[in-house]
Amino acid sequence: MFINIEDVSKNYIQNKKTFCAMEHVSLQIEEGEFICLLGPSGCGKTTLLNSIAGFEKVSEGRIAIAGNEVTAPSTKNVTIFQNYGLLPWRTVQKNVELGLEGKKLAKKERREIAARYISLVGLSEFSKSHPGQLSGGMQQRVAIARALAVDPEIIFMDEPFGALDALTRMKMQDEISSIWQEQKKTIIFVTHDIDEAVFLADRVVIMTPNPGKIKSIVPVPLARK
Ligand code: ADP
Ligand code: ADP
Repeated sequence: MFINIEDVSKNYIQNKKTFCAMEHVSLQIEEGEFICLLGPSGCGKTTLLNSIAGFEKVSEGRIAIAGNEVTAPSTKNVTIFQNYGLLPWRTVQKNVELGLEGKKLAKKERREIAARYISLVGLSEFSKSHPGQLSGGMQQRVAIARALAVDPEIIFMDEPFGALDALTRMKMQDEISSIWQEQKKTIIFVTHDIDEAVFLADRVVIMTPNPGKIKSIVPVPLARK
């Protein structure tokens, strides 16, 4: 089992009282799966995602990736947020190179890898542009290129298309779906949009609030896509 989430709970302290954001969550994820965490606002989707990614420490239970307990974020994984997280003063090319700076690569190699992923998301013409010159959809494609360039084991996506208009959002869903078919990365994707979840996921994990729990896990047959 690649990701093993065993009976995990998370309590936050709110106004000096303990608040349970997630209770008795268990979930097993295979390598290469596309998992959507679906549910209304406040059902603990982000809490679960952040716990798997190592940004949050769980209160009870255990999460392991490839047999190793998660205790901190790993450079093997990347997270894509709704607000893109690009550096406005850097060009598209330099933003994508950013993720590669931690790796011991020659400058030329770094430039080539970045260019390849910028081309994959269809933005080669814009590699010298700055994020502010691009539309929201284009900026999110830069963030996706930056994420893929580091060849992560797991990609975490937290409502990545939430800030986009409906048409751009559909295009981005198509794009991330075909990237996934091609690259077979493990993707954990948070959304409150049922259509988005059903379109993208292998399995949809449906969560309910107060406290956050898994209600059911629904496989989505590939034949429907
Ligand atoms: P979702 O992503 O499904 O909207 P979250 O995981 O963000 O849900 O939040 C689940 C619940 O936990 C919410 O009620 C939220 O207010 C609470 N919560 C999330 N993060 C914190 C925090 N850092 N401190 C206190 N409460 C939090
Ligand atoms: P780094 O983040 O520098 O790559 P490690 O690879 O040692 O560090 O991973 C940090 C911790 O997460 C270790 O306890 C490791 O066993 C565990 N781990 C291993 N693989 C992954 C993974 N794909 N995602 C998250 N944690 C992982």
